[in-house]
Amino acid sequence: METLINPSIGDFKKIIVKIGSSLLVGESNQLQSEWLDSVCDDIAEMHKRGQSVIIVTSGAISAGVESLGLNKSDLRLEEKQAAAAAGQMKLTQSYQSSLDRHNLNVAQVLLTRGDTEDRRRYLNSRETLRTLLKLNAIPLINENDTVVTDEIRFGDNDQLAAYVAVMMDADLCILLSDVDGLYTKDPSSFNDAKHISKVYNINEEHFSMAGVTKSKYGTGGMQTKLLAAEICMKSGCNVVITNGKVKKPISSLDNKKISTWFLSNAESQKIRKKWILSNYISGNRLIIDESAALGLKSGHSLLPRDVLDVKGSFKRGDTVEVALGEKNILGKGLSAFGSEDIKLIMGHESDAIEQILGFKGRSEIIHIDDLVIGSKT
Ligand code: GLU
Repeated sequence: METLINPSIGDFKKIIVKIGSSLLVGESNQLQSEWLDSVCDDIAEMHKRGQSVIIVTSGAISAGVESLGLNKSDLRLEEKQAAAAAGQMKLTQSYQSSLDRHNLNVAQVLLTRGDTEDRRRYLNSRETLRTLLKLNAIPLINENDTVVTDEIRFGDNDQLAAYVAVMMDADLCILLSDVDGLYTKDPSSFNDAKHISKVYNINEEHFSMAGVTKSKYGTGGMQTKLLAAEICMKSGCNVVITNGKVKKPISSLDNKKISTWFLSNAESQKIRKKWILSNYISGNRLIIDESAALGLKSGHSLLPRDVLDVKGSFKRGDTVEVALGEKNILGKGLSAFGSEDIKLIMGHESDAIEQILGFKGRSEIIHIDDLVIGSKT
């Protein structure tokens, strides 16, 4: 991906929209339904243009506090989790009724950190999200607050949005917040604070700009957004932070609405590749033929019918080598089936997988997005 100079929302294919509690629920703990309708109008427009949109929403705890009659200022962990359980229902219903106006389906997906770290769960969550997008639904993601404890949580949905962006190979992550983006200093305390409209490389200086006060602008606000932007940029995903406290905050971005863009560059795909390659255990290999090798090089996924032989013993989600014949290593990728299952389905059409294995599984053994081509991988 080239580095963009003057980005516009229409430039992107797969977009994560992160919506913070302060916008959605506000101080009153009431869902701001008019505002939500305006954001959903933006989302429907993007969807109509053919862009894939995934929402990462906060607000479950805030929405649940009210209905369960809890005291917001003094919540124990289990009360927060109970509030999330009650509030998540309300959140999903609100998004669905708003997107109903555009005949769009919302599909709720609750994730934990483990779902993005464990390869098998990572593959499952990603495949479900991909399928939802193919089916034209709008995935609505939040952290699975009722099961996580502090040690294993994402903690804030800025991070969650960043992980989803990386997992889904998104090219834009929009962080709707209550600030206009990054300033050289806290604009509420310093008149000479200057707004920064574009960042090409996040460095320490940006973090120190974000951490100057303890207000909302400081830690927990801009700092977590910068961390999220850093995660995204390293994986080739651009980020924009903008104040969502206006109607239609996403389409407003194209009308020169004040915002900070974090623009990534091509270098960044390396990180994901590294992640794919890191799990390789020597000897795990799929042998394929010449025509399958040509297919992979021209961007096709590896199908059961392409596989001639399986070496080693591996599980679904493990990294395997793909080789043309015995020696010519073409690359490495994440296998969607374990070695024993591949032995049974190799040489067959994907349609036959269910009959052979007794479950449907994926159509491809290695999805092209999970393949790193190159003999030196
Ligand atoms: N998952 C939390 C909730 O829905 C929000 C976390 C955050 O605001 O970043 O209430």
